[in-house]
Amino acid sequence: MKVSIDPGAGFCPGVRRAINKAENVLAYPGKTYCLGDLVHNDYEIARLENAGLYMIKNGVLPPVSDLRIVFRAHGEPPERYDSVRIKGATLIDATCPIVMRLQQKVKKEWERIAPMNGTVIIFGKKSHPEVVSLNGQTGYRALVIENPNEIQSGGYPPPVALFAQTTADGTAYNEVIRLLSKSLNVENQNSDRNKLVVYQSICKQVTNRNSGMKEFARSNDVVIFVGGKSSSNGKYLFELCRSVNINSHFVSSGAELIPAWFSGARTVGVTGAASTPLSQLNHIVRLINSLA
Ligand code: SF4
Repeated sequence: MKVSIDPGAGFCPGVRRAINKAENVLAYPGKTYCLGDLVHNDYEIARLENAGLYMIKNGVLPPVSDLRIVFRAHGEPPERYDSVRIKGATLIDATCPIVMRLQQKVKKEWERIAPMNGTVIIFGKKSHPEVVSLNGQTGYRALVIENPNEIQSGGYPPPVALFAQTTADGTAYNEVIRLLSKSLNVENQNSDRNKLVVYQSICKQVTNRNSGMKEFARSNDVVIFVGGKSSSNGKYLFELCRSVNINSHFVSSGAELIPAWFSGARTVGVTGAASTPLSQLNHIVRLINSLA
C-alpha cells in the first residue's frame, strides 16, 4: 500500500504567518496569550500550548496588564483593539493581510451605504470569528446569511454590497449572487453601484487548492482528510474530496483511523485543511503504515 501526502497540503500563508508571529515572541520573557485558538486544529494547538502560548477560550482578557495578546489570522472586530489598548497590553496582530483588506472594504462600503439606508450582506458562518470581525466593521448592522435560500425574493434596501467569508463555498456564493441579482432586478452586477456591488472575496488560496485537491482525491483509492472539527475550511475541502472519492474519511486525530478503511487499498492519499500542519499529516502517514 502506497501512502502519500497531497503536495498542496499544509498551512495557507495566512495561518503560517500567524504561527510564525506568535512563535517569534514566545522566546521573550513574560506571558503571551492568543485570543481564541490560533488555528482550528487541536494537534497544532497542543504544540503551541506546550511552547508557552496560552489560548484564551472565553474571550475575557486576563486581569494582569503586563502581557502580550496575539490576534489570530481570522481577525478581530474594532472593539477588541480598543480593549487591548485600554488594558495596556502589547498587541501582536497576526490578522491575515487578506482578511485585513477585506475588513477595510466592508468598513468603506458601510460608510458609503449607511447614509443611504442601504444594506451590507456577508455570506458566511454567523459565529465564525472572521465573519464577526467583518460584521464588527459595520457596528454589527450587516446582514449575515449562511445559505443561498436565505436571500429574500423581495430584495433589500439599496444600495447593496455583498461580501463572502474568505473560506466560503464558491458554488454557493455564485448562487447567492444569482438570487440577489434577481431579487434586485440587476442584470450586470457591477454596472450600477447604486443597486448592487459584489465583492469576489473568497481567498484565492482556498479556490486554487480546490482543483488540485480534487485531482489528488480522485487519484487515490482511499483519502484521509485531517482537520479540526471546528474548521469551516476543513469541512468544505473534505466535502470536495468526498464528491470525487466516496472512500474519503475525515479525522481530527490518529486515534480516529479505522483499519478496515484500508483493506484492499493500493493507494492512500493524506490531505488536510488550511490549518492542518504538515507535521500532523506526516504523523498520520506513519500511523497508516503501521496499520498495514
Ligand atoms: S485562507 Fe486565505 S484569507 Fe484565510 S488565512 Fe489563509 S491566506 Fe488568509
